[in-house]
Amino acid sequence: EIAYYKDAFVDMDEKVVPIQERAHQFGDGIYEVIRVYNGKPFFMKEHLTRLQKSADAIELQLPYSMKEIESLCDEGLKRSGLADAEIYMQISRGIHPRQHFYPDPACSVFTMTVKQAKVIPEDLRKQGVKVMTTEDVRWKNCYIKSLNLLPNVMAKQKAKVNDCEEAIFHEDGIVKEGCSTNVFVIKDEKLYTYPALKGILHGITRQIILDLAADLEIEAVEEPFDVNFLYDADEAFISSTNMEIMPIRQVDDAKLPSNRPLTVKLIEQFQKLY
Ligand code: PLP
Repeated sequence: EIAYYKDAFVDMDEKVVPIQERAHQFGDGIYEVIRVYNGKPFFMKEHLTRLQKSADAIELQLPYSMKEIESLCDEGLKRSGLADAEIYMQISRGIHPRQHFYPDPACSVFTMTVKQAKVIPEDLRKQGVKVMTTEDVRWKNCYIKSLNLLPNVMAKQKAKVNDCEEAIFHEDGIVKEGCSTNVFVIKDEKLYTYPALKGILHGITRQIILDLAADLEIEAVEEPFDVNFLYDADEAFISSTNMEIMPIRQVDDAKLPSNRPLTVKLIEQFQKLY
C-alpha cells in the first residue's frame, strides 16, 4: 500500500498532515473511492466526473487537472504493486490558520491512499446481509461526496451494535440510501430506487445497475418508496463501489425471500464488467 499527501508519495504511516489542515479541522473537503480490478481502475471517468461535481458544489478548486489525477492514480497503483486495490482520494481546502472563510488564494490539498481491496466473500453474497432502518438526520446535500460523515459513521456503528451490515436512512418513512450504499427493491419484476435528487449520493454503482437493468429489459422506477415497501420486497439489495451488489436477507424484523432471480442476474452481469 502507498499514500500521497499534497505533493509527494509517502508511506501510509508517515506523519504528514499539518494541524491546520482544513479536512482535519472542518471536514472541509470531498472524496472519492475507486475500485481497481486486475490493475484496471473501474469506471474511473465516472468517479472523476463526480469528483469534479462535488468540487464545484462546494466551490473548491481542484489542485490538479483530471489528467494529472489519473496519472497520480496510475503512479500510486504502480508503487503499491497491487492488482486489486481501492483508491481513496480526498481534496481539502488546504492548510491555513483556522478561520471559516475559504483561504485566499486557494491552496487545495490532494490526498490519496492505495490499499488492497477488501474482497467480499461470494458465500456472503449468496446469503445476503441483514440491515436496519434509521432516521436520516443528514443535511440536504448528500449528493456531494463530502468529508462530513458523522451521521453515517454513527448510523454504521448503530448497525454494527445491532448485528447488521448496514443502516438504511429513511426520511419520514421514505427510504433514501444506506450509510455507504444505495438501496434497491425488486417488486413484481420492476426495479425501484430513490431518484437521483440532492438528498442521496448518486452512486456510480447505482447508475451501472440502472444501465444493466435497461440491457436486461428490467423496468426501472426511480421514485421514492417507503420502509413498508422495502419490508414487502420480492428482492432487495444495496450497492456500492466496495460491496458491488449485495442482497439483503433481512430488514429490521422482516425476512426477505431467499430466492432472488433478478438480483442474481444483475450480479452476473455486473461481474462481467471487470
Ligand atoms: N451512498 C453513500 C452515502 C455512499 O457513501 C456511497 C459510497 O460510498 C454510495 C451511496 C455508493 O456509491 P458508489 O456506488 O459510487 O460507491
